[in-house]
Amino acid sequence: MHKELLNEYENKRRFAIRQAEEKKSSFLLKYPDFAKLEEELSMASISYSRSLITKPEDKDVFLKQIKQKITDIQNKKLSFLQQLGLDFSYFEPIYECKLCKDTGYFQQDNKSIMCSCLKQRIYNIEYNKSNIGNLENENFSTFSFDNYSDEVNSEKYHASISPRENIRNIKSICEHFIEHFDNPDERNLLFIGNTGLGKTFLSNCIAYELLKQGKTVLYQTAPVMLDEIIDYRFNKPNCNFSIIENLLTVDLLIIDDLGTETMNNMKFTELFNIINSRLLNQNHKITKTIISTNLSLKNIFDNYEERLGSRFVGHYHICRFFGDDIRFNQVKAK
Ligand SMILES: [Zn+2]
Repeated sequence: MHKELLNEYENKRRFAIRQAEEKKSSFLLKYPDFAKLEEELSMASISYSRSLITKPEDKDVFLKQIKQKITDIQNKKLSFLQQLGLDFSYFEPIYECKLCKDTGYFQQDNKSIMCSCLKQRIYNIEYNKSNIGNLENENFSTFSFDNYSDEVNSEKYHASISPRENIRNIKSICEHFIEHFDNPDERNLLFIGNTGLGKTFLSNCIAYELLKQGKTVLYQTAPVMLDEIIDYRFNKPNCNFSIIENLLTVDLLIIDDLGTETMNNMKFTELFNIINSRLLNQNHKITKTIISTNLSLKNIFDNYEERLGSRFVGHYHICRFFGDDIRFNQVKAK
């Protein structure tokens, strides 16, 4: 499984350790008094180990003494460091991921668990590919309200507020979503509206923020996702990294373009199961979903079974995007 990726982790880890060792060596050169304490400590440790085997008569007394000596030296080392405004953590390797120490795995209840950093790397390779590769450009700092008209036109937009005010409201819903991601009562997001109004852009903004928080994010369009699931059901590939498990357990799942798939009963069942299982926060973890669609809520009720529509109404913040095609505006401006 992803041999290059594990090699990369191994190199990353070795690099961090080597850097820490070099940092310590130069520290010892710079502070010979500290180096002397180090020396004393290793001598004491050696005689401790040795005395475990020899000196049978007064062994207990001796061990007690030497233990005390080790503690004293440790304390001296610490106060030396503290005078410089440091502590022992100064010598520890600085890993990119503190949780797995750049191994990709950590131990929990005597089990080896794949760390979210490694999972996300695999998701990016397997699923996200080009889809959310543009996060440096599509995030809240590059998000502009100027793309949205401030004209209130109820006839044109079927709303009593301007597209700009609407997008401001949606943006604050998104920010609330990010901030309260781990709250089981925080609703999921359903983005409704025509193409070119920034639905994917906003999903990317959210993905970017959550990735920074160490959450895992998986992006799929509805047609590709459903085809992959059906593919998997019919000829289970011989791998333990199953698309279905990932769709169920990833922290944030973004399903784009709902309504552009060719639907059938089997696909609907899979779609409903994913959406519903994620709502129930199975696996004792919080999972959230963002769904984008060009369909209206009425279309959703018409095109899918009512139980899907009612999940959206009950558990999703429904954000309706309206305005003029941003991409069209950009073309005009050129
Ligand atoms: Zn990690």
